Amino acid sequence: MIIETGQQTSGNTDTEERGPGGERLFAGLGVSPGVAIGVAHVYDAGCVNVPEYRLAKDQVEAEKIRFAEAVAAASAQIGKLQHKARDLPGSSGEELGYLLDAYQQMLKGSRLVRGVERRIGEDRLNAEAAVQQEISQIVQGFAAMDDAYLSARIEDIREVGRRLVRNLTKVPYRPFSNLPKNTVILAEELTPADTALLDPANVAGFATVLGGTASHTAIMARSLGLPAVVGMAGMLTGTRNGQPAIIDGSAGKVILNPGSDTLAFYRRKRAEFLRQRRQLQRLRKVPAVTLDGAEVSLQANLELPAEIDSVLSSGAQGVGLLRTEFMYMNRDDLPSEDEQYVVLSNLLQRLAGRCLTIRTLDAGGDKIAPAIGIVEGPNPALGLRAIRLALKRPEILETQLAAILRAGAHGPVRILIPMVTSVSELLAVRTILQSVEQRLKRRHIAYALPLPPVGTMIEVPGAALAADALAWHSDFFAIGTNDLTQYTLAIDRADEAVSSLYDPLHPAVLRLVQFAAEAALRARIPVSVCGEIAGDPRFTALLLGLGIRDLSMAAANLPVVKQRIRNLDLVAATRRARVIMDQSDSARIAQLLDDFNGNIIGDGL
Ligand code: PEP
Ligand code: MG
Repeated sequence: MIIETGQQTSGNTDTEERGPGGERLFAGLGVSPGVAIGVAHVYDAGCVNVPEYRLAKDQVEAEKIRFAEAVAAASAQIGKLQHKARDLPGSSGEELGYLLDAYQQMLKGSRLVRGVERRIGEDRLNAEAAVQQEISQIVQGFAAMDDAYLSARIEDIREVGRRLVRNLTKVPYRPFSNLPKNTVILAEELTPADTALLDPANVAGFATVLGGTASHTAIMARSLGLPAVVGMAGMLTGTRNGQPAIIDGSAGKVILNPGSDTLAFYRRKRAEFLRQRRQLQRLRKVPAVTLDGAEVSLQANLELPAEIDSVLSSGAQGVGLLRTEFMYMNRDDLPSEDEQYVVLSNLLQRLAGRCLTIRTLDAGGDKIAPAIGIVEGPNPALGLRAIRLALKRPEILETQLAAILRAGAHGPVRILIPMVTSVSELLAVRTILQSVEQRLKRRHIAYALPLPPVGTMIEVPGAALAADALAWHSDFFAIGTNDLTQYTLAIDRADEAVSSLYDPLHPAVLRLVQFAAEAALRARIPVSVCGEIAGDPRFTALLLGLGIRDLSMAAANLPVVKQRIRNLDLVAATRRARVIMDQSDSARIAQLLDDFNGNIIGDGL
């Protein structure tokens, strides 16, 4: 069965079609292009893969001791987090304190601990498997009770279970280790932290039931070059590990148990995709210049240090956005100044004189770092996150700024501040930066001189509307259209249920982009766009037409955007942008843009 409509549907309904010979096809949202062909690995976040074996009678006591040690270690780790929570200001510290108290209770003679001990003693099961089985049983019991409070506790129980398993296996946060080559991950949900652990050498692609196109998980898939689809309702029902699976990230499809015709079709499609990628690579060395001679700077977004090779081979002029969250993911403690300094200076060494724009920690929302102990408020996207969190926990920002300044002695860096809404936040950052500089000076440690430029992410409507004022205090702007779209339209970027409404071409979003870009141009500070639309050739003419000359994107998208630029006439693009900005309807805007793009031909070489 081959259905090639290329249609993307929102994922709230069961989108399965059945074909001959047990073939199952699901349609959802393609979020990272390409074709993955491999073997399914069904990932359950609550159920880390652990060994399961039966103990000999004389091993039972030793196993009980091993489990008791894991419980004690977990209790000590949570104790440390409790200590940190006491330093948190106001209600966030209090809330985290309650949560951690509850974790401690679960470790003290609770049903969980007793149940595991029973499974070790009576069933002679190894401790890791006993923890998993007990957690599954408790979770099932809670889920069956249909009680909102207990449902909310399920994730807490799983968290304690994961911690115990990590302590037992002594393999922290490695849910995807030991996967065979060409594994296709099928999951209810992958967090950005999960995605950071995927190794493209073994993982061919992934599909999830939940998630939106602009979520960080989708962004990471594009950066890693992994074909990915989200919004695959019903995909996990009856699906087993080891089943043959195909992911078509371009058309938004998953095919399980493909027949031989389907397999042959997707092998051809994958070969064609890779051939086109290789062809675009030929643009690596040519400049990004429009037909009428306007130069555009193309930079890369970097999520993980491992991507630096593809950044370099894409021909990027520098890194326009380093998302530093990876340093804080999948760990219980905070990265030290020295550790961050080593990571950043290694990147600068690889960049060999190209500029590295380092965004300070943008934790919160869908980017959670347990090390920081963020307690989600009622609306995490609007809560204590990014620069707000950094100013409440200045020690985190100070450590990061010190590492950035020290790394800046080895190559050009810029500092980018996320989620800014007011001038006072920028002034506070500058004050902290000065005190960090003084400290380094007193200690005779080498650092970047003159101090690196400090830029503002324009990703909140209020910041875009206050762009004139912010530009006075900023050395550059980076427009983050992912969050700007989310906050302007009140559409959760990670929620597949509303992803069909997530529309960067909405006139409200475009007006804010234009307003911020013009404020930057008036203040004569550089302005870039680093949201996902910067890497989508559909938007290139419009962004250039709005005066943007600096785009930062996933390295994989750089050649195709360059190709579009080299086939563009800037005067015509500017004229079309003016017509577009007079429109009030996004469907009409999309049509005007697509018509304009449809007239562009040529391979850019
Ligand atoms: C954005 O919001 O557009 C952006 C680039 O930042 P992030 O996607 O990391 O939130
Ligand atoms: Mg953002």
